[in-house]
Amino acid sequence: MMNLKLTDPVSRVPFIGDSYARLLKKLNVETVGQLLHHYPFRYEDYTKRSTIAHLILTETVTVTGVVEAVDNIHTRNKKTFTKVKLSDESGTIDIIWFNQPYLARSLKKNLSLNISGKVDQFSGNLAFISPEYEIVRSGVNQRAIHTGRFVPVYPETARISSKWIRSRVNQVLLLLDTIEDFIPLFIRQENNLLSLDNALRMIHFPEKLAEIDAARQRLSFDEIFNISLKGLLKRKAIRSKKTAVSLILSKISPYLNRLICNLPFKLTSSQEAVIQEILKDLSRPFPMNRLLQGEVGSGKTIVAVFASLAVVKSGKSSVVMAPTEALAYQHYTTFKKLLEPFNVTVSLITGSSKKTELGTGIIIGTHALLYSKALLKGGGLIVVDEQHKFGVAQRAKIIELLGGDNCVPHLLTMTATPIPRTLALSYLNDLDISILKESPVGRRGVRTWYVPESKRAAAYQWVKNQISSFHTQVFIICPLIDESEAENLKSVKSAKAEFEKIKNIFNEYRVGLIHGKLKSTEKQNVLGDFRDNKIQILVATPVVEVGIDIPNLTIIIIEGSERFGLANLHQLRGRAGRSDKESYCLLFSENTFFETVNRLKSLERIDSGLKLAELDLKRRGPGEVFGLFQSGLTKLKIADLSDFHLIERATHASRMTIENEKYHKDLVKLLERTDEDWSKINLN
Ligand code: ADP
Ligand code: MG
Repeated sequence: MMNLKLTDPVSRVPFIGDSYARLLKKLNVETVGQLLHHYPFRYEDYTKRSTIAHLILTETVTVTGVVEAVDNIHTRNKKTFTKVKLSDESGTIDIIWFNQPYLARSLKKNLSLNISGKVDQFSGNLAFISPEYEIVRSGVNQRAIHTGRFVPVYPETARISSKWIRSRVNQVLLLLDTIEDFIPLFIRQENNLLSLDNALRMIHFPEKLAEIDAARQRLSFDEIFNISLKGLLKRKAIRSKKTAVSLILSKISPYLNRLICNLPFKLTSSQEAVIQEILKDLSRPFPMNRLLQGEVGSGKTIVAVFASLAVVKSGKSSVVMAPTEALAYQHYTTFKKLLEPFNVTVSLITGSSKKTELGTGIIIGTHALLYSKALLKGGGLIVVDEQHKFGVAQRAKIIELLGGDNCVPHLLTMTATPIPRTLALSYLNDLDISILKESPVGRRGVRTWYVPESKRAAAYQWVKNQISSFHTQVFIICPLIDESEAENLKSVKSAKAEFEKIKNIFNEYRVGLIHGKLKSTEKQNVLGDFRDNKIQILVATPVVEVGIDIPNLTIIIIEGSERFGLANLHQLRGRAGRSDKESYCLLFSENTFFETVNRLKSLERIDSGLKLAELDLKRRGPGEVFGLFQSGLTKLKIADLSDFHLIERATHASRMTIENEKYHKDLVKLLERTDEDWSKINLN
């Protein structure tokens, strides 16, 4: 018998060859192992058996009989069908297939045949119409796989049917020796897991329902275990690097204390705790990789100010990046103001500004800075604000920077989109996470209403009253045109149209417009006017708003709100509620589907960004919620990210495995088997 390995190209499997191998690539199947990990997504239940005389109309069953006769029959309207007369000791039944005359070549008289399907009628008699069929063969390794059992149904692609996949998988399982396990035995026992060999055999060809469950458990466990392990290995790799700066706490604390005294407010205890965590990281000899997570308005910026001051006073630069120019400008003003007394250069670099002196002080700009090698070289700290707004390419760039050879900057990423616990546990093992749990006192939530179209006019009237009674200000966010991260001309056009409309309706007030295509000086002017309340209503495209902090802004109107995720809407409404004034968010949507309205209404009740993110996660999957936070995120094949129990067990197991040298030989087995480039990572 031929000897097949999991790492072999799938073309080695009999009857696959090069041309089918090319087709299988579309299903991400290139190796024998990947074929086995191409799991069924459901099963036909053909386990019920019957004899021909006892068949009942509409039941789904399997019968076994002998072919008495085979005929291709041509009807008057030029159609063809194949009729097989099948009998067992109890009776005879017709099996009908339409337009498959070639069947007559393989279904010969006297063959023993399994038929699985729903009992139907033909010409007034019970019959099977287009059922599954399988010739019964005797001999070793000749089990039925298409009939008479739980029959797996797979994701398919052109010219690759489930039936075909089933046959190939069956063949592979026959050719492979026992599949070696990589999860240490004691972990398998502790978690009640099948062996990998059993799990793979059972997921494809289960004998009982319970076997499907058990197999899914084991394979889900593996999936999370592997992801988690990958994170841990990355973390190890990062920790083996040297960092450009490890600061000496005693030297910089006088500056930090002075900054605390100068602040116009008292730090929340969360802020204090997080700043301590970060300082500790910064004084270590390996680079920090920390994600600061905090609700909108929880005061993340000031944390970045502290970290930057510490690094700059240790003689290295700090680069602060924001997703938009408007936000970069706002940070620039904040940093400059707070750091005025410290003799620190703060420079803003925008598309239009000239190259400033590089490599010193605090440099603030958009993600365009990522592409400026000169700026980042030898820098001490990179701060990435609103990190979920950064595109995949930009994140890859950051990772590349951290992969640099010897002196790597510390990395602080900040986001208001909370990472659900399950994700944090499994995907983000390579990250440390800090959370700002409390927001500055006196903050209220943002009262939110879903507003049906019929109440639009009334809502505008209410807004007018609010402006005139409380001198409050309004933000109008235009619909998300498409989910791409960059703003396109279409969004600008729709914002312009909205602007004209609003100018007419609110003609007694000044209305402004801001979008990404404005020059940066224009943007700064508009925002400045808004800040000074020279403009009462600001119309904006969805990409412009992030992070903007204007306390007098108390009403947010979101158009086309159904196009945003809940976490995103939460973030948008967080532009308001930044003072002790009552704040409001009005969600408009032309979509009146019950489900959509219901989803939007959950924002009326739920004020926790974390809960909202978890709802998004259930509905849309992790890749979308976190803007492809990591590209691997959408590729879960079998595990369920909302199964916290599973995720906790599997991540715990991966940690045990990596921490204990005894199990490293199991890990090596796993690493050898995966196609990823893990083999280069040193386990020690
Ligand atoms: P976010 O976490 O959304 O980035 P910001 O850093 O923009 O929040 O902070 C929001 C507002 O809260 C800012 O005006 C900031 O000055 C203010 N702020 C930050 N920390 C505190 C605090 N401890 N007490 C009071 N106000 C604070
Ligand atoms: Mg912010």
